[in-house]
Amino acid sequence: MEPNGTPDENASYRYLSTRGEDTGFSFEEVVLNSVAPDGGLYIPEEIPRATAWESWRNLTFPELAFEIMSLYISPSEIPPADLRDIIARSYSTFRSPEITPLVRLREKHHLLELFHGPTFASKDIASQFLGNLLEYFLIRKNESKTSTAADRHHLTFVGATRGDAGSAAMYGLRGKRDISVVVMFPEGQIAPVQEAQITTVPDENISSLAVDGTFEDCQNILRSLRADRQANEDFDLVSSRNWAQILAQIVLYFYSYFALTKQSASFKLGDKIRFVVPTGKFGSILAGYFALHMGLPIEKLVIATNENDILDRFWRTGRYEKQRPGRVGPSGAVLGSGLRKTLSPAMDVLTSHNFERLLWFLACEFASSAGMDHYWNQRQASQEVCKWFRELDEKGSFGPVYRDVIRCARREFESERITDEQTLDTIRAFYRHSGYVLDPHSAVGAAATVRSIYRTRGVIHHISFSTAHPAKFSDTIVRALQGEEGFSVEDKVLAAEFADLEKREKKVTPMENDWQKVREYIRARRGHGGIA
Ligand SMILES: *Cc1c(COP(=O)(O)O)cnc(C)c1O
Repeated sequence: MEPNGTPDENASYRYLSTRGEDTGFSFEEVVLNSVAPDGGLYIPEEIPRATAWESWRNLTFPELAFEIMSLYISPSEIPPADLRDIIARSYSTFRSPEITPLVRLREKHHLLELFHGPTFASKDIASQFLGNLLEYFLIRKNESKTSTAADRHHLTFVGATRGDAGSAAMYGLRGKRDISVVVMFPEGQIAPVQEAQITTVPDENISSLAVDGTFEDCQNILRSLRADRQANEDFDLVSSRNWAQILAQIVLYFYSYFALTKQSASFKLGDKIRFVVPTGKFGSILAGYFALHMGLPIEKLVIATNENDILDRFWRTGRYEKQRPGRVGPSGAVLGSGLRKTLSPAMDVLTSHNFERLLWFLACEFASSAGMDHYWNQRQASQEVCKWFRELDEKGSFGPVYRDVIRCARREFESERITDEQTLDTIRAFYRHSGYVLDPHSAVGAAATVRSIYRTRGVIHHISFSTAHPAKFSDTIVRALQGEEGFSVEDKVLAAEFADLEKREKKVTPMENDWQKVREYIRARRGHGGIA
């Protein structure tokens, strides 16, 4: 998508909302607000071309992150030295010197390990960076204010989690001044390692609530708080919609591409590659779309979903449709809303909110065939997105979208749906083949990769994302590998770091399933200054 008007070299520093005609948001506004005032998501007005990308081959992870992020952040907003410092601090918390090591699983199949951060899951890549960015902007806003001033800028994040997103947000924001975090989780219903991570963060500004209810109850509480918030702007909601989280993940595509040129004799700079990404809210894979349009030679981005397959169905039919409540598949229990509980819970979604960002770009590309100017195309795209999402709200679905829109989507993406049975089989198959233990999310990606390699007749290299450490889902690993030769959870799965987790002091507040009680709790925490 190229603008028809005069190219403005800084358009990628400015942001617009997918639902509005407003443009010209600064990076700082985008990061501090997460969601645009009209309910849309922020995207850069233009995707920058990385003309010198090949010269980045030998950069370290932080150096590469700096080059990529500099194309999206004006140096007048964050001076280069400050940006370097934010990046360095964000990735110094990782246990691997390579941050995200690439390992070879089989011929043409490489696995990008994204679980070497503080919470052992891919969300750390984005959350560590976002936490430092938020802190940076708040320090700057509060510079001239005394520590007790009533007009200090303060962010209170409230979220509901089943595990990964909540703990990554807590570890990204722990100890940050002027930020507080309250995370709800369904008591007794998340994996023990996840619960231990969420309930043992010692920092004053972080709290966890064990809600007497299901994950859906937690989400309903959040919904009530959000509705209430319109009348009462006193806190924000943890958001996986924040643009900075997409930005941070663009780095992964370039970094692993370069790593492969060094690790594989048959892969050269300039060769085409396929990425396969276990997908829920469409954040990680959307970052791949940006990498592709910046100029990285990506042949296809392969979406791997579990049985919550709204995206897979969109790619097949052009319809975006929440599952009807009450439908039960052969292998899965169905929750009230139609959400299916699977072995890869971080991907159990009814809708994928970052998909809205891709839809905007597809609509914009479609609009550009009318031959009008770039601003007209942008406005058309926003109007189209508004129309689609109004339909989604009203009817639970939209589409089929125009044939050209789905054609554009299929040109750059493919999609695979993996069942729980196939997930277990994949964990077993890779263990038998190479002794490698995949967590269930990574196994969804690996299963999709096997299909893609087969379809492309083994001529193209694939990098699939490994998004969590297997120890976080040890029950599923045991179910898949119990009785396999040489397998024991202690040796093959549990990392030393986890043993220590169980011993740490717990800090958790039991909470009734009542949104007004949660609101009281949040207000009291702010009131008595426990959050500073
Ligand atoms: C969040 C998450 C995913 C999916 O990423 P999205 O950006 O939501 O598509 C996959 N695996 C794990 C372990 C995750 O935590």
